Amino acid sequence: MADNKVAPNAGGFFDDVSNFFDHAAQFTGHPTGLLNQIKACNSVYRFRFPIRKGDGVEVIDAWRVEHSHHMSPTKGGIRFSEMVNEDEVMALAALMTYKCAIVNVPFGGAKGGIKINPKNYSIAELENITRRYTVELIKKNFIGPAIDVPAPDYGSGEREMSWIADTYYTMNPGQLDAMGCVTGKPIALHGIHGRKEATGRGVAIATRECVSVAEDMKALGLTAGLEGKRVIVQGLGNVGYHSAKYLSQFGALIVGLCEFEGAIYNADGLDLEDIVAHRKETGSILGFKGARSEFSNSAEGLEQDCDILVPAALENQLTGENIGRIKAKIIAEGANGPTSPEAGAIFSKKGGIIIPDMYCNAGGVTVSYFEWLKNLYHVAFGRMDKRYEETSSMNLINLMEKMTGVSLSAEQKNLVAKGATELELVNSGLEETMIRSYHDIRDIKLTNSKIEDLRTAAFIGAIDKVAISYMNMGIWP
Ligand code: GLU
Repeated sequence: MADNKVAPNAGGFFDDVSNFFDHAAQFTGHPTGLLNQIKACNSVYRFRFPIRKGDGVEVIDAWRVEHSHHMSPTKGGIRFSEMVNEDEVMALAALMTYKCAIVNVPFGGAKGGIKINPKNYSIAELENITRRYTVELIKKNFIGPAIDVPAPDYGSGEREMSWIADTYYTMNPGQLDAMGCVTGKPIALHGIHGRKEATGRGVAIATRECVSVAEDMKALGLTAGLEGKRVIVQGLGNVGYHSAKYLSQFGALIVGLCEFEGAIYNADGLDLEDIVAHRKETGSILGFKGARSEFSNSAEGLEQDCDILVPAALENQLTGENIGRIKAKIIAEGANGPTSPEAGAIFSKKGGIIIPDMYCNAGGVTVSYFEWLKNLYHVAFGRMDKRYEETSSMNLINLMEKMTGVSLSAEQKNLVAKGATELELVNSGLEETMIRSYHDIRDIKLTNSKIEDLRTAAFIGAIDKVAISYMNMGIWP
């Protein structure tokens, strides 16, 4: 039977998020009652259900927390992890509220958790657990395209999302928008191109935008631009892998990788795909030939020389204990809550920049929003206009050729006239969202010299947006 005791950090993570909130709230001037309403978790559903395992029965602990209903539906992933506890799910649900607000995704925040280590279960058992979890949510009206829309998180992915969609549809036959009940689904089951890589891609765009601001980089003693910047990534899961992939595509050098089994480092750069192949073959990143040094203690990997550190695994990785040894000048938070408040304060005081989780990893929920819209439209983005765009651009090119006497090659014409695919539209929407939001946050920071970091600025922006929703409901004058 699963251990029902809460994990050691219980009572900590939600408090951390609330403390960040309170600190930022001072700068907003909203009434205390309104701030308390924004901060509180509206609904916490804790449940248990039995599943058959081997010859016996196992009781599974699970949660779904809807943090804020200032907008509907609520939105957030489902974490499959042995470490899940109520405090963590509440904290992550709250972060979802602020995350959605900061990137202008019109959802309230939510999060789910199933307290299991997926590695200890067969695929059939995982399917059983996921379907039963979904049924429990349906019974209590905690899921639906207009109610609460789960997504992947640590330990879950497309496969689990397709089980959720199928279970929901089975229980709601004929519901036209049923597929909008969950995002992060496979393409073949009403998913959207670009969702899988969206969080990591968003982390890379956020980092690129941060380092593009010359005056901020000058203050750190760095040049502007990603070209040649040395990056250490923690976590080779979906977020870590894609962050590393796009950061190196944008010109950065991946010099270090940390996973739970250890860490590897090479100041001249590591080849990501080779590492992935090595890990697939041997089960570990250790022993990789392209590494100059390796550490059996994964945490040591974080402390190696680099410009940018991307913690993309779990919360509470950078603490008061190790932050002093971190050499990076920029921390891009791919994970939720990887930097403790104490560590964050020390790092910012030293002049370092933290690109905060609620913005930095918001690419996932941004593209989830696009997927949800696609499910409600019942048509893929670009399907109606791709050909039309191509034909009208081609007509224009042909006309220009006639008028100027200059002719273009077929290749040049296609390059100019090509209509956008769904993936291109999704990536364009993601890029616009990440770039705009970065400057929104930075601009808030610049309004007041007492706002010491981007996290505080991001919270201020998020609180203001949620507060405006409540005021528009007429709840507060
Ligand atoms: N679990 C992801 C997050 O923490 C994605 C949430 C979603 O797409 O709804 O942001």
